[in-house]
Amino acid sequence: MIEEVDGVDVVVVGAGPTGMMLAADLSLTGVDVVLVERRSTSDLVGSRAGGFHSRTLEIFDQRGIVDRFLREGKTHPVPYAGMASLDISDFPTRHPYTLGLWQNHIERILATWIEELNIPVERGREVTGMAQDDSGVEVTLDDGQTLRAKYLIGADGGRSLIRRVAGIQFAGWEASMSALIAEVEVTEPTPVGIKYDDRGLHGLSLMEDGRTTRVVTTERELDNSNEPTLDDLRANLSEVYGTDFGVHNATWVSRFTDTTRQAAEYRLGRVFLAGDAAHIHSPAGGQGIGLGIQDAVNLGWKLAQVVKGDSPDRLLDTYYAERHPATARALQYTMAASALQRPGPRISALRDQVDWLASLPDVRIHLAGLITGLDVHYDLGTGHPLLGRRMPDLDLIVGGSHVPVYSFLRDVRPVLINFAAAGSIDAGCWAERVHLVDAEYRGAWVLPVLGQVSAPTGVLIRPDGHVGWVGEGTTSGLVDALGLWCGPQPT
Ligand SMILES: Cc1cc2nc3c(=O)[nH]c(=O)nc-3n(C[C@H](O)[C@H](O)[C@H](O)COP(=O)(O)OP(=O)(O)OC[C@H]3O[C@@H](n4cnc5c(N)ncnc54)[C@H](O)[C@@H]3O)c2cc1C
Repeated sequence: MIEEVDGVDVVVVGAGPTGMMLAADLSLTGVDVVLVERRSTSDLVGSRAGGFHSRTLEIFDQRGIVDRFLREGKTHPVPYAGMASLDISDFPTRHPYTLGLWQNHIERILATWIEELNIPVERGREVTGMAQDDSGVEVTLDDGQTLRAKYLIGADGGRSLIRRVAGIQFAGWEASMSALIAEVEVTEPTPVGIKYDDRGLHGLSLMEDGRTTRVVTTERELDNSNEPTLDDLRANLSEVYGTDFGVHNATWVSRFTDTTRQAAEYRLGRVFLAGDAAHIHSPAGGQGIGLGIQDAVNLGWKLAQVVKGDSPDRLLDTYYAERHPATARALQYTMAASALQRPGPRISALRDQVDWLASLPDVRIHLAGLITGLDVHYDLGTGHPLLGRRMPDLDLIVGGSHVPVYSFLRDVRPVLINFAAAGSIDAGCWAERVHLVDAEYRGAWVLPVLGQVSAPTGVLIRPDGHVGWVGEGTTSGLVDALGLWCGPQPT
């Protein structure tokens, strides 16, 4: 089996949300990619995540798969962030809500998509080592077989082997709490809602099958010494609630902490890190999947262009330059959000104050931009406020029909939109690489957090949905931007 995929362009280690998104984007650009996953099936036992935020929905919309998630999930106008007043339903996005959907469903939907894209997935195979040379990377699997690729992406989660073998530092902050998380059955009625005590947060909730109860319960001591068991869960619940609710038939017992770390490099030669392999943090605020998906769509098209020889290697350095600071900022938010879940009357008072503050218009907008991921701004220099920000999904008029901007991003190619007189912008010798659209837009340009901005006469949208050039009455700077994002002038 493995011989058939020997010598591929890219190997992605880990078929979690990040790895699957990366593989999909690479494959959509025509790059030869293989995923290696140690789990033997795509069925995930135990759902860590319970959903994701607006920008992640927008990214799935850019690839034409958002309806698959919306059909199965439940939308909430208030993202769970411990702030009841943080309503985002008026935010300028097609998806002004958080989607509640367990991670096993999120991964099933992505796995179905990558199957449709005919991406080979080596399941039940664990990567045990890797070594790179000038022309590629050799990956060793647990059965001793090897696999060679031009590039390797470690999307192999928080304990990333790829990060460790590459020797990339993972600096940050140690855990200040630990909690047990489990999916079990119970024999006694369970209390509704979240409870705080002198340890921190606890909650039990019935899952959608009507049988399984998901339990989260903070431990008294920080304990990372052993793999948690059902007995540990029973003991913790009894101490907190005075009963263990008769928990049994556990399909999953795990532990999480608020350890916060970020890889010092996202790239070592031909090896990249993405998702939890590059950053870990408290689950408070539900940021993890979105950060991984944003890493994936930032790296995928850049790597594809380098693999195809369209762009020079240095394009790949923009992955770290853009994603590291954006994620560092999100990690600061998760540290603050986890601090608000700490026990004690003072923190409880602080939570109330923050909740009240979040109802103030400016504070609400600031926090909502951060939590939803809609305020991400890559530093691409000075200019129009759109530069480096995500393109809003406007309803354009193209050839007399209404067409959402994001529908042009499905094939992971840059899009150049001309809002001036038809034909007044052309992609020149990049015509093969860029989708040029003459369009009209008569509404206001409203960006999350910033509000209304002036209408541009042209935009170059990168395949990740971020704006790489803005025209304001002229095409000044367009050739440079095309050269930067689409590769030097093809001859
Ligand atoms: C309690 C809890 C609640 C959370 N809630 C949310 C939430 O509500 N919203 C949210 O967005 N995020 C949440 N998260 C975070 C989210 O679960 C992660 O950020 C997300 O799963 C990261 O995706 P990933 O693909 O980067 O890594 P992972 O999901 O960890 O995937 C890595 C994959 O790599 C595979 N792998 C690892 N090593 C190897 C190897 N050597 N060889 C082959 N395969 C390998 C693994 O089997 C796995 O499938 C939560 C996390 C926790 C702990």
